[in-house]
Amino acid sequence: MLKCFRKLRGSGRVLLFVFVASIIWVIVDIAVIRVSLGDVNNKLTKQRAFQKMKWAIENRQNMTKSNPPKTNPPKTNTPETNTPKTIEDAYEEEYMMTDREVSRFRVHRIKNKDNKDNVQDKKNLQENPGDDQPPPVASKVAVDLFIGDDDDPRLKNNLVKKHPKDVAIMKPVKNPPEDVEIIKPVKAPENTHVKGVAEHQAVKEELSMKEEKHIEKIQLQDTNQNTSMNEDKGAGEKVKKSETVQLNKGGVHQVLSLDVTAAPRDPNAVGQSGQPATVPSEEAALAEQMWDEGQFNVYLSEKIPLDRGIPDTRPEICAHSMVHDELPSTSVIFCFVDEVWSTLLRSVHSVLNRSPPHLLKEIILVDDFSQKDYLKDDLDKYMANFPKVQIIRLKERQGLIRARMVGAAAAKGDVLTFLDSHIECNVGWLEPLLERIYLDRMAVPCPVIEVISDQDMSYKLVDNFQRGIFNWPLVFAWNALSNDYVKKNNMTIADPIRCPVMAGGLFSIDKKYFYELGAYDPGLEVWGGENMEISFKIWMCGGKIEIIPCSRVGHIFRKHNPYTFPNDRRKTVERNLARVAEVWMDEYKDLFYGHGQLHLLDQKMMDLGNLTEQIKLRNRLECKSFKWYLDNVYPELDAPLLKAEGLIFNRGFRKCLSVQNQSFSFEPCDLAQPNQHFNYTWMMQIRQQDMCVAPLIAQTTIHLKPCDPTLSVLRWLHKSSKLKQPDQLTVENTSKLVCLEVNQQNKRLRLARCTKDNLFQQWEFTNYYIE
Ligand code: UDP
Ligand code: MN
Repeated sequence: MLKCFRKLRGSGRVLLFVFVASIIWVIVDIAVIRVSLGDVNNKLTKQRAFQKMKWAIENRQNMTKSNPPKTNPPKTNTPETNTPKTIEDAYEEEYMMTDREVSRFRVHRIKNKDNKDNVQDKKNLQENPGDDQPPPVASKVAVDLFIGDDDDPRLKNNLVKKHPKDVAIMKPVKNPPEDVEIIKPVKAPENTHVKGVAEHQAVKEELSMKEEKHIEKIQLQDTNQNTSMNEDKGAGEKVKKSETVQLNKGGVHQVLSLDVTAAPRDPNAVGQSGQPATVPSEEAALAEQMWDEGQFNVYLSEKIPLDRGIPDTRPEICAHSMVHDELPSTSVIFCFVDEVWSTLLRSVHSVLNRSPPHLLKEIILVDDFSQKDYLKDDLDKYMANFPKVQIIRLKERQGLIRARMVGAAAAKGDVLTFLDSHIECNVGWLEPLLERIYLDRMAVPCPVIEVISDQDMSYKLVDNFQRGIFNWPLVFAWNALSNDYVKKNNMTIADPIRCPVMAGGLFSIDKKYFYELGAYDPGLEVWGGENMEISFKIWMCGGKIEIIPCSRVGHIFRKHNPYTFPNDRRKTVERNLARVAEVWMDEYKDLFYGHGQLHLLDQKMMDLGNLTEQIKLRNRLECKSFKWYLDNVYPELDAPLLKAEGLIFNRGFRKCLSVQNQSFSFEPCDLAQPNQHFNYTWMMQIRQQDMCVAPLIAQTTIHLKPCDPTLSVLRWLHKSSKLKQPDQLTVENTSKLVCLEVNQQNKRLRLARCTKDNLFQQWEFTNYYIE
C-alpha cells in the first residue's frame, strides 16, 4: 500500500486523496440522513400518540363504580449524582416514601391515629364515595406526603416568631428587558422530583405570537441559586443559563415545568416544600382565634412563604409528555370574597411562577364586594407590581357565579381558567389543560384537585383515577374508577379521565365555547349548583369534561364557608339546584326532588325565578336529553323513574286495587288489566295515567283527583323507615299519619288510625325500584 503510494506522484496523489475524502463524505451523509429520519419518525410517533390518546378518551365509556380508592404514591427522590445535598434534599430523602411504604403508611395511620382528618380518611377508604352515603363535598382522599412527627424539632425550629400579620411581601419578579428574545428549552424532565424541578425566572413576560413566521421564542432564565439546575456541578460542568426554544406551528415540545422564585427558597421556612407546619403551644389560642377568618389554619398560612415550593406530585411520565407549541393563551380568573391575604397571594404567585408566561395572558381578580380592609388599597398596591394582574371590584355582592361571569367578560385570553382563591398550582399545571382544548375546543379539562390541609397546610397527594360524579339529590362526590375499568381500557396513570360532573372550582374552558354554552345561568345565586349546570350543559350539548392527571392544583378544602350567604345557605343551594333540574333534567328532575327531604317537593315554597331564557338556550343549542346523558356519560347512576309500579295488592284482603268508572274496587289480581296498574312516583303520588289516588281526610274516604305535584295532600308515604310498618301507605293528617286500609265490613277503601301488624293496612306493588 505504502509502496503504491510512493509510486504515485503529483496528480496521482491528489486523485487518491479526493477518492478517500469522497468515501468519508458519503459515510457521513448516510449517518446524517439516518438521524433526521429518526427525528421525523419521532415526530410522527408523537403525533400518533396524540391521536391515540384522543381516540382512547373518546372511546372510554363504561365507567364503573365502587372500588376502594387506590393509593397514589408520591415519588421517591433520586438526587442527581454529584449534586451536593441540601437540607431540603435530606428532608425529602427521609420523608418521601416508596409505593409500598405509602400504602403501609395509610393503613398504619388509619389504625393508630384518630384525629379528625384520619376519621375522614377512614370514611373515604371504607365507603365508596359513590355509594348512598356521599362524603361531604369537601372531602377528598388524600395522602400525607410528609409524615413528620409533630414533635420533630426541625418543624418547631422552623416557626418564625413574629406577629402573624407581619406577612412577608414577596418582591415582584422584575419586568424583563424588552430586547431579550431567546430562551432556554425549558427541560423539566430530568429534574422532576420535589425540588428537582427546573426553577426559572420568566424574564420576558409579554410575548407576541409571530404569526407570519409561525415561530415563537421564549426566554427564560435560571435565577434561583437554590435549585438543582443551578447547583454547582463542578468547574468543568457549568449549567447553561439560557438556551433557545423555538415554538413552531404544528410542532411539539416537552411540557414546561417552570417554578420561578424571586429569591432562593429558604429550606427552613415554615411549610416549605409543602411540609406540614405546627403551631407552637404558646400561640395556640391566637391560632384558634385566627381560624374563623378563613375556616382553615390562617395562623400557619401567614407564616408560610408566598412562593413556597410544593412537591411535584405528577405521575412520572407527565414531565416527559409532549404538548403542542402553539397552545391557546389563558386568562386566569380568581373570584374571592373576604379571602385571607396570604392564601390569595399564594394562589396568585403560584400561577405567575408556574405558568409559561407566553400562555398566561392575564390574571383577573374579581373582588366580590369583600369587606376586609387589607383587600382594598393594600391589595391594589401589592398587585400594581405585577403587570399581568388586574383587579375588578364589584359594587355589591354578586356571588361566585355572577362574579365569574364578570371576570369572563373582561378576559382577553383564548381560554378562561377559573380557580378558587386558596389554591397552589403545581409545576407544569397549565400546558396539559390547554393542550386538551387545543386538541378539542369542546373539551373542558380540570386539574386533579389535591389537598392542602386546612389543619397544617401541608400539600397532600390524592389517589389516582378519581372522577367527579353526583349522587341524589345532586350531591357532588369523588368516585374511584375500578381496577377492571382501568385495565379494560388500557388506561395509564396519565390519561385524561372522563367526568360526569366537575367539582366546579377549578377548570379551563375555551372562551368562545363558554359563551356558546350561554356561560352560567345568571339566575343562580351566590354559590352551589353551578358545577351541575355547566356539567350537564357541556355533556348534553356536545362537549366533554375531563380530569387531567398531569395537571395538579392544591386546594384548601374547608368544612364551612367563611363568608356569609345573603340568604339561608341551604335554601340558596337548593334553589340553584332546582333551577338546574327544571332546565336540564327532563323527567329525571323528579328524582332530584324525590330524593331530597320533603321540603324539596314543596316547589310552591320555592321561587325559582324565570327559566324561559335557559330553556330557550337548551332548545337553540339542540342539546341532547338527560336520558342520553345518563345512558352515555353516567350509566352507573341508579336512576329509576319510578319508586314502584304494577298491581297494588292488599295483604289482608288478598285482592288488588282497581279503578272502575272513576271509583275504587277490588278485583282478583290480573297483570293484564290496565285498570289495576298504578305507578308510585318520586313525587310520592299513586297514579293511574294523570289521575292520582287522593284522600279526603275529613270524610276519611278516598277518591281520584287530577295529579298536581304541588299538592302535598297527594303524597303517600310507603316503604319508609318513618313508618311503623313499611308496607303501610300513609298520608299526613295534621301532623298525624293515617293509613290506607280496606274496611273489612264493606270491603271499601278508607283512612284509619295506623295499627301495627294490621294486614288490611299493608300494601304491595308488583315491582319496586327502591331499596
Ligand atoms: N366566592 C365568591 N363569592 C361568593 C362565594 C364565594 O367570590 O359569594 C369565591 C370564594 O372566595 C372562592 C370561590 O368563590 O374563591 C369558591 O368558593 P369556596 O372556596 O367557598 O367553595 P368550595 O371550595 O368550598 O367549593
Ligand atoms: Mn374553595
